[in-house]
Amino acid sequence: MDRIEHIRVPRMAATTVFMAGPEGLAVIDLIAVERAMTGHRDGARLTQDEARYAASLLLEAGIGYTLVAALVGVDARKLKTLFPDETKTTRSEPVVCGTTRGYRAHKSRGDAICRRCRAANAAADLHYKKTGSSVGAPAVAA
Ligand SMILES: [Zn+2]
Repeated sequence: MDRIEHIRVPRMAATTVFMAGPEGLAVIDLIAVERAMTGHRDGARLTQDEARYAASLLLEAGIGYTLVAALVGVDARKLKTLFPDETKTTRSEPVVCGTTRGYRAHKSRGDAICRRCRAANAAADLHYKKTGSSVGAPAVAA
């Protein structure tokens, strides 16, 4: 199993903490959580609260579901019921003309770029030239 060394449990003065959650108070052994997260669980079982806490930190760090399930010792299907939002596959919006995505779609298809997509790309280019960043650039032509 892969070992994850770079994710650290937020340090606290105590190794056992009480956390208020939606279902009441949870008792969490942070040492057990950290051992599990770094692949050193060695067969020890986390409580459901500890597993949930460890899984939330790992998922937040972008670790994949299968590995998270193995690290915290929870069945992958059960993990999905605990964290339904993280399992949602992102379905991207359809590419439409008059947007920078439309412009890129024309380019990648190799077809003629329509006027509206050109305008959207020009607006995004102008934003980049003005600000030096594409952050906040308009994705749609003005
Ligand atoms: Zn277009």
